[in-house]
Amino acid sequence: MLETTIAGSLPKPSWLAEPETLWPEWKSEGDALIEAKKDAALVWLKEQEDAGIDIVGDGEQFRTHFVHGFLEKIGGIDWDLKTPMGIRNDRYTVDVPTVTGAVHRKGPVHDLDARHTRAHTDHKMKFTLPGPMTICDTIANAHYDNRPEMAMAFAKLLNEEAKELEAIGVDVIQFDEPAFNVFTEDVKEWGIAALHQAIDGLNCTTAVHICYGYGIQANIDWKETLGDEWRQYEEIFPALNDSRIDQVSLECADSHVPLELIGLLKNKQVMVGAIDVASTEIESPEKVADTIRKAMAYVDADRVLPCTNCGMAPLNRSVAAGKLKALGAGARIVRNELAG
Ligand code: ZN
Repeated sequence: MLETTIAGSLPKPSWLAEPETLWPEWKSEGDALIEAKKDAALVWLKEQEDAGIDIVGDGEQFRTHFVHGFLEKIGGIDWDLKTPMGIRNDRYTVDVPTVTGAVHRKGPVHDLDARHTRAHTDHKMKFTLPGPMTICDTIANAHYDNRPEMAMAFAKLLNEEAKELEAIGVDVIQFDEPAFNVFTEDVKEWGIAALHQAIDGLNCTTAVHICYGYGIQANIDWKETLGDEWRQYEEIFPALNDSRIDQVSLECADSHVPLELIGLLKNKQVMVGAIDVASTEIESPEKVADTIRKAMAYVDADRVLPCTNCGMAPLNRSVAAGKLKALGAGARIVRNELAG
């Protein structure tokens, strides 16, 4: 009951990459870099296990960014042809690579990361992949007729990758779809269909993470424009509840999401974000417990997985470690109450 997990990313140690930034430069290269990434993943596995996190991951130590880490090993993309793109409906502009041909995997993408992590933990293991819609909102299209067509092409590649990850022993495959909160009509028209393509034939647990983004300034400014109540989830949760995805992750900690909206996910396991990643203040275990209790008013305890609101990559390392501990301790408080 109340299995804890994290949204995905964790800070890179300062000896691996430039700290507290979303697009960090690696501090080494070649074999030394691979060794450093493996070491960093081990550090975070230990931190997660010590904190009492049940479903653990590599903290995305092997990739620079959650989308481009996947795209780097995909053919059909011209990395020199940078196109300025207003990401997440113009929230911020990034020079992104461009799809110039049919996309295809040049080989396994996250094989090494997943094998290394699986070899070093007995816990359940989660692996995160970017969702098809979010990929399409992070790369320019100069090949496909439209975004849904490109999303389906990427979804097929994600499915190939996911099947290999499942074979390695990954227990939960999570697709990160922050774009779902922005293009809510597209979610219903083709976003969920693309996710279904991505999970086709999988037997492991599948999840989708939908958030209001990392705690970076562009996202904090955007949240200011959303008003007192954030009701984006309301538009997409009924369709997600009807989907074949097992788990849905959402923001609950210090967010303006009306909590009753999670009651729309009656058929899903719900990853309840109980850690605010936009604040450097470490939550008290009691505060985490309180967020979990509030969610349990709308979701049965056996469907709640206490989680972080989003990835913690841009945070200070010790803050992130503290937040992991708070998450584990907060879940323990509620578990004890339920057992009581
Ligand atoms: Zn997120």
